[in-house]
Amino acid sequence: MPLSQLSPSQKRKPSPKDVDTYDLIVLGSGIAGLAAARLATKDNKSVLVVDKGRHLGGRVSTRRKNGFLFNHGAQFVTAKGNKFAALLADARKAGRLKDWRIDPAKTVQIGTPSMRDLPQFMARGLEIRQQIEVTRVAHIGPNIGFFGDAGLIACGRQAIVSAPAPQSARLLTNVYPDLAATAELTSYDPCWTIMLGLEVNIGPVGLSQEQFFPLRNELAGISLAVPEPMRFAYKPGLITPTPAALTIQASGRWSQQYRDEDRQTVIARLCAIWEKISGQPLPPIIDANAHRWLYAKVTKVANENAPRHSDDKKMAIAGDWLTGPRVEQAFDSGTAAYLGLC
Ligand SMILES: Cc1cc2nc3c(=O)[nH]c(=O)nc-3n(C[C@H](O)[C@H](O)[C@H](O)COP(=O)(O)OP(=O)(O)OC[C@H]3O[C@@H](n4cnc5c(N)ncnc54)[C@H](O)[C@@H]3O)c2cc1C
Repeated sequence: MPLSQLSPSQKRKPSPKDVDTYDLIVLGSGIAGLAAARLATKDNKSVLVVDKGRHLGGRVSTRRKNGFLFNHGAQFVTAKGNKFAALLADARKAGRLKDWRIDPAKTVQIGTPSMRDLPQFMARGLEIRQQIEVTRVAHIGPNIGFFGDAGLIACGRQAIVSAPAPQSARLLTNVYPDLAATAELTSYDPCWTIMLGLEVNIGPVGLSQEQFFPLRNELAGISLAVPEPMRFAYKPGLITPTPAALTIQASGRWSQQYRDEDRQTVIARLCAIWEKISGQPLPPIIDANAHRWLYAKVTKVANENAPRHSDDKKMAIAGDWLTGPRVEQAFDSGTAAYLGLC
């Protein structure tokens, strides 16, 4: 009987008989997991993606609050390889991506109206379950099972795990220790991000790239500041017709130094850095939030000779920690994970 038809009185944990067996189960609806799931679906495989987050996209993430919209994870994407470029071209055609000229010499792509539109575009037609945390991975006969606190979540003839490396290592250490060992060879910087909803617009971009980069080196304080004013944040009824959503992301070094600081202190410190480098006070703040990405930027990828697939061809690992710290590289890792299972 499918899990959804179990009555609440049936308290027992789900067993393999209760859940469908998919050709492929994928842990993680970030770019790596979605890339793998899309390819498998194109090959007519039955695929299920599970993710513990509230929304899909992983670190390509958007938060909406009080009429403000913050892209508080990845700010933009670029493509070097043909496969990712083709995906971006399709997303553009569908109106989910557009150009953003970050300085006169550089144009990048941003999701529209939000960064999360890119993973949402990738997710079309896929079966995805959010807010499901996998706490254990185990063999079930010839198959792989993803388990949560309430028991078996899903069964697959093959599986891909695309959580950040420390989390993948924990899940795989008992079942595929070689793959767990690959994950253990990596490291990350954290990233504190603050999101400020401002009463008045501070301009299309607070600092030009020319102003910003030398200051970043000097202060090691802010790695990117992207006010997103009229494009996204206007909401009729707010005090002023020109509110701005300002996202400030601290550098890896700064975020490491203040890793365990409380949110209010981080907001105050980063606001002070902003005011110092811009030379002007911030307008009144309507709304302030902070998010700490613990595994934000990969600083050391896994050794290229370390295994990425199990010898039995049932399990593969994916994620930017195998390829490099950008969205395109996460995409490449998901593609490679799936192809390696074929
Ligand atoms: C602040 C910040 C700014 C960035 N800026 C840029 C940028 O401008 N351009 C760029 O190209 N890249 C940028 N990056 C990097 C880029 O976002 C990542 O490289 C890419 O999104 C990683 O994708 P992924 O699929 O490997 O991992 P993730 O996006 O981390 O996806 C992993 C998924 O696994 C899920 N998961 C983890 N554990 C479990 C579990 N136990 N059970 C179920 N689900 C689980 C998570 O919820 C998550 O959704 C930035 C990253 C950050 C944090």
